[in-house]
Amino acid sequence: MMSNAAIELNHVSFSYNHEPVLTDISLRIESGDYVGVIGPNGGGKTTLMRLLLGLLQPQEGTITLWGTPLPRFKNWHSIGYVPQRVDSGDFRLPITVKEVVSFGAPRNNKIATAAALEQVGIADLAKRGLRELSGGQQQKVFIAKALAAEPKVLILDEPTVGVDIAAQDDFYQLIARLNMEQRLTIIMVSHDIDVVVNEVSKLACINDHLVYHGLPKNFIEKDYLSNLYGKTRKFILHGH
Ligand code: ADP
Repeated sequence: MMSNAAIELNHVSFSYNHEPVLTDISLRIESGDYVGVIGPNGGGKTTLMRLLLGLLQPQEGTITLWGTPLPRFKNWHSIGYVPQRVDSGDFRLPITVKEVVSFGAPRNNKIATAAALEQVGIADLAKRGLRELSGGQQQKVFIAKALAAEPKVLILDEPTVGVDIAAQDDFYQLIARLNMEQRLTIIMVSHDIDVVVNEVSKLACINDHLVYHGLPKNFIEKDYLSNLYGKTRKFILHGH
């Protein structure tokens, strides 16, 4: 049978300076999955994303991307990455939305830039300065920048930090739409567990090792959460 795996980790372990952070992680992400990566602070979620992006190399185990071992993988444009939000106060130069998004497009391609702005619904903001925008709007700019490279997988690290509640609903709708309509594979690190369990198709819970990987429903029913976050933690799973 042909493998449909976009990303596969086999017995991956990683340490920073001999301090183990991830141990024996085996995980398969299928094309079209919407994976929520959850787990306690310091559990290794961001480190795992850095491994998938080839920014760190595991000391043990292997990672393959569309069947190619990571050290030989070249199609990095296939993996879009939206890092944790940087405060736009850090941007000293006045820069427009269109300019930011065009940095993501191959050779600053205008069509790819316009398409990405359209995809996230911010074409009307193209000429505005990044610094003038709300947190939620800026978040969309960085998603558009990632989409301008036409990736097959989009990795988001804590994407709703600094985004107000009203804009968060809109944000999750956008991500669901990219997953459903564009068949984009999504990997989203989040601390917002109550929301995430209702949005994603698969959960991966990381706390040094892979505590859980599967449907959100089984994660809740089997009470993994109380073991990780304390006995009083309760969940609400909305009907779909
Ligand atoms: P999470 O994203 O789940 O909060 P991280 O992957 O950021 O977890 O961190 C996992 C562990 O690795 C933490 O104990 C953190 O202090 C440590 N760590 C993260 N980055 C580095 C680094 N560059 N050098 C050394 N230790 C690090």
